[in-house]
Amino acid sequence: MAQVQRMSRLMVKTLRDDPADAETLSHKLLVRAGYVRRNAAGIWSWLPLGMKVLENVSRVVREEMDAIGAQEVLLPALLPKEPYEATGRWDEYGPELFRLKDRKGAEYLLGPTHEEIFTLLVKDQCTSYKDLPVILYQIQTKYRDEARPRSGILRGREFQMKDSYSFDTTDEGLAESYALHRQAYIRIFDRLGLRHKIVSAVSGAMGGSASEEFLAPAAAGEDTFAYCPSCDYAANTEAVTFPGGEPADASAHGPVEVLDTPDTPTIETLAAFLDVPASATLKNLLVKVDGEIVAVGVPGDREVDLGKLEDHLAPAAVELVTAEDFTGRPDLVRGYVGPQGLEKVRYLADPRIAAGTAWVTGANQEGRHARNVVAGRDFEVDEYLDVVVVEEGDPCPKCSTGLKLDRAIEIGHIFQLGRKYADAMQLDVLGQNGKPVRVTMGSYGVGVSRAVAALAEQTADEQGLCWPAEIAPADVHVVAAGKTAQTELALSVAEQLGEAGLRVLVDDRAGVSPGVKFTDAELIGVPKILVAGRRTAEGVVELKDRRTGEREELPVAEAVARLASARG
Ligand code: ATP
Ligand code: MG
Repeated sequence: MAQVQRMSRLMVKTLRDDPADAETLSHKLLVRAGYVRRNAAGIWSWLPLGMKVLENVSRVVREEMDAIGAQEVLLPALLPKEPYEATGRWDEYGPELFRLKDRKGAEYLLGPTHEEIFTLLVKDQCTSYKDLPVILYQIQTKYRDEARPRSGILRGREFQMKDSYSFDTTDEGLAESYALHRQAYIRIFDRLGLRHKIVSAVSGAMGGSASEEFLAPAAAGEDTFAYCPSCDYAANTEAVTFPGGEPADASAHGPVEVLDTPDTPTIETLAAFLDVPASATLKNLLVKVDGEIVAVGVPGDREVDLGKLEDHLAPAAVELVTAEDFTGRPDLVRGYVGPQGLEKVRYLADPRIAAGTAWVTGANQEGRHARNVVAGRDFEVDEYLDVVVVEEGDPCPKCSTGLKLDRAIEIGHIFQLGRKYADAMQLDVLGQNGKPVRVTMGSYGVGVSRAVAALAEQTADEQGLCWPAEIAPADVHVVAAGKTAQTELALSVAEQLGEAGLRVLVDDRAGVSPGVKFTDAELIGVPKILVAGRRTAEGVVELKDRRTGEREELPVAEAVARLASARG
């Protein structure tokens, strides 16, 4: 079957200039090359070329999901509220959830992810242990009212996701379904040509235990991951845990000393004034947890990772305190809080604030700090939480070597959910012994539309997009660089390539200069470019590799044979 697409009939309008609002390479190039167009913040249309790439990604995902025995279904995106109320997610999901009402006032949502609906489906369809295990998947449009939709299709408010769900009767079964997905994801991302890393993740709002992310290293990524240069440890920085501080001998420290510390509004000025390193100071961040003021203590040279804090305290809501929160609270002296004076406030602390360690911290009096404030002697820690932002050089939790950090795009996520959703919806099947067994679940996502942008980020160059063969919108881009004779040769070569089973894009546009056609071919990013130009009369064409830029002149028949065998 010949698959020849003539550019003269293709709806594609390339742009010379970057869109004004574009920050990332993939955003700029996908718009300029005519793959996608923006309709509103985080809402995008896929044009013919983009659609081909999106379809190719979906096909690879489908093939690999089918290969692990997963069955494809298609559930609605418009969902009733009740199942999400049963699991608590109607509220817990917060402002990211698109909620809406129908004409009768009944409430609905646009699905951000489908655990509830799949659980109900299996409850309806599977009644016995013999019906399990089962893995179901769909490739479907998801909706999330992201706080910062950005980078084009990398973070949309409407986007394509492959989501799958596994249902097992035993923990071992769940581990196996999880392992199957892990293997399938490795194959998917390898085939797509995406460089990726598997890292430990936190489970967040989804609940559950084991969870890993597939990250595509790229400068445009919004995730930071840590990896160990000496062992195989790798984790999203949000999931890196500090091994725990060593308890020290409290009696080694003198009594608490209160000092006047004028003009020391920051940790740096305080450390300089007292001639101590910032790491010897203890800073105390006040936050509201479900409305109640809580203090979080971390060494002065570290930052609190609010995302980590939220994960630890979920589903409680975490907010920063404002000036009003200090009214009527003489115990809270803004800027001079120290844990030794906080009687009515819960104190959470980083594990580095181990028992017996001494600190410089606020004296709970305006303009004064205290020295020799010892954990376990002068104040108690109510709970140790690992909430500091991980930094390059922090010890690897496995082998203590200094960690390295890198940026990446999250392209997939696999979770062992356990029985959280099955409990909420009473999903049981009859066991071997005739008694009901609670089902255990896994949930697994691939960002299908995001993968297109991630691939563009990893593969593009100065000239434009540069797709790996498996997902490129065509195998060969034939350019007619001249008038009638060149166009005729180009169309004939395109036909032959099509017959050989290749997907061909042929630039047969009249009145477009060869220079513009070459620029467009580089921008569109098909892996091979074949030019009918100067030596058309001799039947000689030029074959160019989009990635390496290598070019070669050869007779038509040889060029066709070469491309056909490369594909085979
Ligand atoms: P992120 O941290 O980037 O918001 P997430 O943890 O919310 O991602 P999941 O809920 O695990 O993502 O969704 C599964 C997959 O869907 C992600 O791995 C990602 O590839 C993709 N995805 C999530 N949110 C978006 C979005 N707004 N636009 C495009 N793809 C997305
Ligand atoms: Mg998200």
